Amino acid sequence: MRKNGKQAYMGTRIVVVLTCFIFAAFFFITYLKKSSDFENRETLILETNDCLAAGDWNCAEKNVRTLLNATPNDTNLQLHLAGILFEQGRYKECVYYIQSLNFKNKDLDYLVEKSSLLEQEMEKLGVEKSMHFRLEFDGSPAKKDVMEALAVLEVAFDSLSDLFGFVPENKMCVVLYQEKEHQGVGPRPEWVGAIFDGKLRIPVNMMAYREVYRPVIFHELTHAFVRSMTRAELPFWLNEGIAQVIDASHNNDERPKGAAPNLKTLTEQFVKHNSSEMATKLYWYSQKMVEELLIFGGGGKEVFRKFAQCMQDVHQLGFDVALRKHFAVTSEKLLESVR
Ligand SMILES: [Zn+2]
Repeated sequence: MRKNGKQAYMGTRIVVVLTCFIFAAFFFITYLKKSSDFENRETLILETNDCLAAGDWNCAEKNVRTLLNATPNDTNLQLHLAGILFEQGRYKECVYYIQSLNFKNKDLDYLVEKSSLLEQEMEKLGVEKSMHFRLEFDGSPAKKDVMEALAVLEVAFDSLSDLFGFVPENKMCVVLYQEKEHQGVGPRPEWVGAIFDGKLRIPVNMMAYREVYRPVIFHELTHAFVRSMTRAELPFWLNEGIAQVIDASHNNDERPKGAAPNLKTLTEQFVKHNSSEMATKLYWYSQKMVEELLIFGGGGKEVFRKFAQCMQDVHQLGFDVALRKHFAVTSEKLLESVR
């Protein structure tokens, strides 16, 4: 049957409308895909920055490699990957990777130079690569001190993993340095000697004083463990309190004179307080608050595992909610009960 003119016109119009619709749908889907790819990439970049800041090299490596799959010539990502390999102590791999790149810059040169130097120093000292630590040296420490420091660190690592029921995923960087002669007047505050600032910095001269270095290494290593439990910022009282509970060197200190510090002061960085009197007070209250927290958690050895689980929840839940969930207590309540 022959279509009349009107039917043919309607048919053409339907085809045109359908074609337009299909094209529109196609462009819309492409747009959605592009924008969701973009969002995924943005999310991945944010997460990668978090991992880098927290020294979570495994997570950073996985993410940077995924990002590089999409943009293999991104020099910024390539530089990051080289840095991550270095931080994991994979020096040879780091150097090979840098040699395979099509660009040069001073950061890459630094990584190559430092990788070779560290390999040489380890060889010269006859130190085997450690399972848990990546060593760096500042100055030329004696082999005996390096071995002693590493042995104490390994023992401390095993006992903390066992206590917290938690094994950090990433190697920890230890900088063994030779402390310069103390220039100031009077004794140096003891917490300045060794620090954890993402790297464990330990003065090797300290290894001559057995009664000093054990608590110091346990203290700083506890900070490193807590850091690897969460990428979230934690209140200072919690961080310092748990490190002091573990190092056990201040268990018999007397309550400092004067009013208790407020929660805000206990939560913020302690180092900005120059007076050693204030610092002593903040450390004392921090330890007491954490001791109280552990009692709230039922005490005993098991409570340290609960502590580790709580820390691992902080990133997702926030500190206050995680504390209520695992210990049924608030920071205010803890301060109140030790005041
Ligand atoms: Zn500390």
